[in-house]
Amino acid sequence: YVAVHDLAHRFPGTDVLFEHVEFRLDPGQTAAVCGPSGCGKSTLLSILAGWEKPTAGSVERSDIERVGWVFQNPYGVSGRTALDHVVFPLLTKGMTRREAEPQALEAMGLFDLQYAADRRFSELSGGEAQRLMLARAVCSKPDMLLVDEPTAQLDTRTAHSVSRVLGHLAGQGMIVIVATHDKDTRDACQRVIDLAEWAPGDKEGDREGEGTAQKETVQEAAQ
Ligand code: ATP
Ligand code: MG
Repeated sequence: YVAVHDLAHRFPGTDVLFEHVEFRLDPGQTAAVCGPSGCGKSTLLSILAGWEKPTAGSVERSDIERVGWVFQNPYGVSGRTALDHVVFPLLTKGMTRREAEPQALEAMGLFDLQYAADRRFSELSGGEAQRLMLARAVCSKPDMLLVDEPTAQLDTRTAHSVSRVLGHLAGQGMIVIVATHDKDTRDACQRVIDLAEWAPGDKEGDREGEGTAQKETVQEAAQ
C-alpha cells in the first residue's frame, strides 16, 4: 500500500499548495487526484514517487518496489521508433532485444498502438505519444503507477479506453494514481483525492467545527 500522513507542501516563495492530506491506497485501487491548475497535483505525484520531499508529513510505502511514472508532457527521442521507446527500459534491466520486443509489443497492444510500432517518435500524434508513454511505464509491471493527465490529448472514446485499461491493470494488483482534470477519467477511478479540499486558508475555521471531517474528504466515488 501507499499511505500519506498529515502531508503538506509548499515551494520556496509560493503559498502552501495543500496541507493535512491523509489517504491510503491498497493494491488494486485506482485513484484520481483532482483540483484546479496549480493546486499541486503533479507535485503530489512527485512526492508519492519519492522525488520531491514534502514540507511536512510523511509517505509510507509497503510492498512497493517498482514505481511507474508517466509525465504530463510526452517526451522521447525524435529519430527513434515507438517500439524502441518501450524496449529501452527493458534493455537497461538486462533483457535482450529478442526478449524485450514481445513484452513491449504486448504493452503497446494494451493501448492500441501496435500499428505505430515502427513509426519514429517525431511522427507520432500527441495522443499516440501519450499512449506510448503509458505503454512504456506499464511494460515494467510497476507495483504503483503514477500518471499525470493521461487523457489530456485524447478524444473521449480513446480516453475511455485508456481508463478501462488502467482499471484492468489495477484489477491485477497495481495501485494506479492519476492526476486529471477530466471528469470522465475521474469518474472511472474508485477513489477521488480532491486537492481543493486540502487547500489551506479560509477553511481553518470550518475545520475546527468539523473535527476530523477533513480526513474524510477522500471519498469513494459516487458509483
Ligand atoms: P496543472 O493542472 O496545471 O498541471 P498542478 O496541479 O499539477 O497543475 P503543480 O505542477 O503541482 O500543479 O504545481 C503547483 C504549483 O507549484 C504551481 O504554482 C507551480 O508553479 C509551483 N511549482 C511546481 N514545481 C515547482 C518547483 N520545482 N519550484 C517552485 N515552484 C514549483
Ligand atoms: Mg500538473
